[in-house]
Amino acid sequence: MVPPAELLNFFRNEDYFLIATHMSPDGDTLGSSLALSLALQKIGKKTFLLNNDMVPKEYAFLPGYERFHTFENIQDSGYRLQDFKRIVLIDCNDLDRVTDDKSWLSNFNLQTSAVIDHHETEKPFGDIRWIIPDSPATGLMIFYVIKALGVDLSEDMAINLYAAIAVDTGNFRYGNTTSEVLHVAADLTDAGARPHIISTELYESWTESRFRLFIKTLNTLQIEDGIAITTVTRKMLAETSTSPDDIENFVSYPRTIKDINVSVLLREIDDNYYKVSLRSKDSINVARVAAAFGGGGHKSAAGVRIKGDIETVKAKLIKQIKSE
Ligand code: AMP
Ligand code: MN
Ligand code: MN
Repeated sequence: MVPPAELLNFFRNEDYFLIATHMSPDGDTLGSSLALSLALQKIGKKTFLLNNDMVPKEYAFLPGYERFHTFENIQDSGYRLQDFKRIVLIDCNDLDRVTDDKSWLSNFNLQTSAVIDHHETEKPFGDIRWIIPDSPATGLMIFYVIKALGVDLSEDMAINLYAAIAVDTGNFRYGNTTSEVLHVAADLTDAGARPHIISTELYESWTESRFRLFIKTLNTLQIEDGIAITTVTRKMLAETSTSPDDIENFVSYPRTIKDINVSVLLREIDDNYYKVSLRSKDSINVARVAAAFGGGGHKSAAGVRIKGDIETVKAKLIKQIKSE
């Protein structure tokens, strides 16, 4: 995987970069953004890390996580926002994935944009686009960008990139776990990332309330024709004093069942409005399922928000999945 010269020259020739994650940020978008920011700083660049949402608390172990700004506090950053004319989208390829309220971006003086992503569903955004749907994680692509820029991998960069790759490969278990990704993980380990510590942070650091929400979620399980459906309502969050961040990764658990090909998790956002997460084991392309409702993602991990009453939403999803 070789980053395009145009992208490397963009990083070499410009000085100020606004680095943006996708909404509801996960380990890949966060770790990739932080590692890129650290590398650019090493070659004298200024970076501004922007997040639509607060960094979920389970990612507070990522070195530098406190440097993210949300749209609400960009004015307090101490930076002159007008200096930022270049935006880099990480782990997404359209501003619609960065924020619902793009008016905030007018605080910056944005003129050119770059996209570094691995999603299968693409929008035509970005002056410089490096999108590799076969890449297991954006973190892997950032690893090659850092190498190509001639920056030595610091321990902090390595931890961020290892976490990014671990999250998107299901801790090196999913079908996207290639020999290449394992070699890069070994290089990151040599550079100071400690696999067992990162795995403990990612997978064995739940709060008790999160675990209680998980129990409630598992109790909503419905199975139909190899499709598992679980639901999280606002009431369940209130009863367990948890937040939507706590739901991350719940959708992957029904994959544990041998005959389940697709796992669907519906999170109630509002009355008759659901955030849908889709995961598949192999044959079914859930990016296409999500795209049919206006969302997107990868072949085996995708998402979309859908309006409608819950039974109608479920029925539409089942029909769409069966047609794949
Ligand atoms: P999630 O279920 O939110 O964890 O998302 C699974 C994958 O699909 C992630 O890689 C997301 O970045 C992507 N994704 C989620 N929602 C959307 C959307 N509305 N449009 C495009 N990609 C999405
Ligand atoms: Mn992501
Ligand atoms: Mn990703």
